[in-house]
Amino acid sequence: MSLLNDAIGSRRLPTSPTSGTAIQRMVEAAKLARASTAAEPVRPPHEYAERAPLPDDFMSSPVEDQYIAQPHATTGGGAASTGGGVTRSTAEARVYDADRADAAGYAQLQGTSSTLDRSSDAGIAAANVQKGLDFYASTFGRNGLDDAGSGVDVVINDRSPEFAGNGAYYATPTADGGTYEAIRFGLGTSYTMANGTVSQASMLHADDLTIHELTHGVIRKETGALGGEADESGATNEAIADVMAAAATRDWRIGEGVYGPASDYKAMRNIANPAESTAVHGLWTHINEVRNAQATGQAEEHWASGVVSTAAARMQQSLGGDAGWQVVEQVFYGAMTGGQLGDMSFTAVAGALRDSAARNYGTGSRAWQVVDQELRSGGI
Ligand SMILES: [Zn+2]
Repeated sequence: MSLLNDAIGSRRLPTSPTSGTAIQRMVEAAKLARASTAAEPVRPPHEYAERAPLPDDFMSSPVEDQYIAQPHATTGGGAASTGGGVTRSTAEARVYDADRADAAGYAQLQGTSSTLDRSSDAGIAAANVQKGLDFYASTFGRNGLDDAGSGVDVVINDRSPEFAGNGAYYATPTADGGTYEAIRFGLGTSYTMANGTVSQASMLHADDLTIHELTHGVIRKETGALGGEADESGATNEAIADVMAAAATRDWRIGEGVYGPASDYKAMRNIANPAESTAVHGLWTHINEVRNAQATGQAEEHWASGVVSTAAARMQQSLGGDAGWQVVEQVFYGAMTGGQLGDMSFTAVAGALRDSAARNYGTGSRAWQVVDQELRSGGI
């Protein structure tokens, strides 16, 4: 089986968190998607090989014609690190193309951040992942995915059914008992929601969505957690991924780079304006909203991520400008790496954030007070 980290693009979510029927359909669809990966056989490890294993259902997937043509919207280059100077991480992205798989079903290596340019989807994926690696290097001195120099495998054009419009950080069990880990991107997708058409390019075209998936990998290395479930640890995993993606781009909108002019929806999430009608996902902002959804079996981790992520947006706005961003990214990174995330429940993550604020800025400091206050505003 493979462990699906998340699938943040294709769920046909309603625009209102109170629309129970639509949410239930979405939850059922998500369960089916996860179940469909359960029969995946083990593959030999190819951590740095010329090919990457694919999900078992790739070769027989009949869903190719449901995808729309991909616009090649690109995002700006250069990590938005503080101080202007960007440290180029020595760790690199290695990009595999599932459309160029060999007979055994292994995607072939297309190149790395150093060898690819933005003239291809593989090169755009490499550049956006590299932007995330450079953000972690510049801002925190982190050396690669595992802080020990590890690069990142990226598989593009994954046509598995659950990957329509999606991206994810996957960990696939291998024959020797280890795991093969990679960021995987599907193709674009188009569908209708309450406020019109969603027309979305592959998530690899958005720097923030790419850094979101990279951050799932960093969390995986730090805690072992993968997320991907509609529980508290899934919600906080999504929140941390979104907060780091927002900090790296200095923008609380997530995924705006993949919605073309034909799309009535303009972003995947808007953390600073969680009720925005042109965002694909709504966000709950208080723990009680999550509890209510859990009580009726309708919890969803991306919606629930708002409890933590919107608190982070309020922290940044309360402290103001780039100084606010710096506090948010340092407090969250300190929580990710401080060994205190535990089971990643809301309580554990809130505790880790408060402790990180205390370590970085001092208990009772203005930064600590704002972190504490905004977590309280979310009920955690
Ligand atoms: Zn995610």
